[in-house]
Amino acid sequence: MAEHEHDHDHDDHEHGADEHGDHEHGDEHGADEHGAAEQEAAFEREARRMVALARIRQYGDAVLRMKAREVEEVDDDVRRLAERMTALMHEAQGVGLAATQVGVLQRVFVFVDEGEDRVLVNPVITKRSKDIELDDEGCLSLREVLVPVERSVEVTIEGLDENGRPVALELGLPSSRIVQHELDHLDGVLILDRTDEESRRAAFGKLRPQPVLGSR
Ligand SMILES: [Zn+2]
Repeated sequence: MAEHEHDHDHDDHEHGADEHGDHEHGDEHGADEHGAAEQEAAFEREARRMVALARIRQYGDAVLRMKAREVEEVDDDVRRLAERMTALMHEAQGVGLAATQVGVLQRVFVFVDEGEDRVLVNPVITKRSKDIELDDEGCLSLREVLVPVERSVEVTIEGLDENGRPVALELGLPSSRIVQHELDHLDGVLILDRTDEESRRAAFGKLRPQPVLGSR
């Protein structure tokens, strides 16, 4: 649109800017203040979760299929690894994380047992109950996938804690399910390998690359 007078052109531009400003302002006032704060907190948690997930190896990464090695000595490096993994697990809103999922092939995993953070080094399941439970399981390396997996209801798992002291934990659900899942990771086994054919096929559908949100 060609304007004859410079002043007119200038006015038009200013008017347009004001309109835009007013509009934005009006939207802010329209939102309930309490709801907005809650929404902001939820948004921040979700943003932190996405950042954490970006630091966790995702399905398709070859390291997730590799077998982790025994830890020879529980030293400061192992403790730092466990601390980093515990923080990442919480930021990702998970309840367990294996070292393979952060690209470290050592037999270490962290998990939440009845609200308490635990570290297990060189874990071995030494006893399993005969009872099996079938329940949906997710994985921080498989994002939206949730598939039914059979697990022993009770297990005894032995290993070393973060100070290198031997521990033997007798666990029931859900902790027993979590440690069986994390121990699988150390052997390169994923929930896709433990579920039924139909669920696996449905999961592969979700794992296909998704179009980037917002792009057209
Ligand atoms: Zn997992």
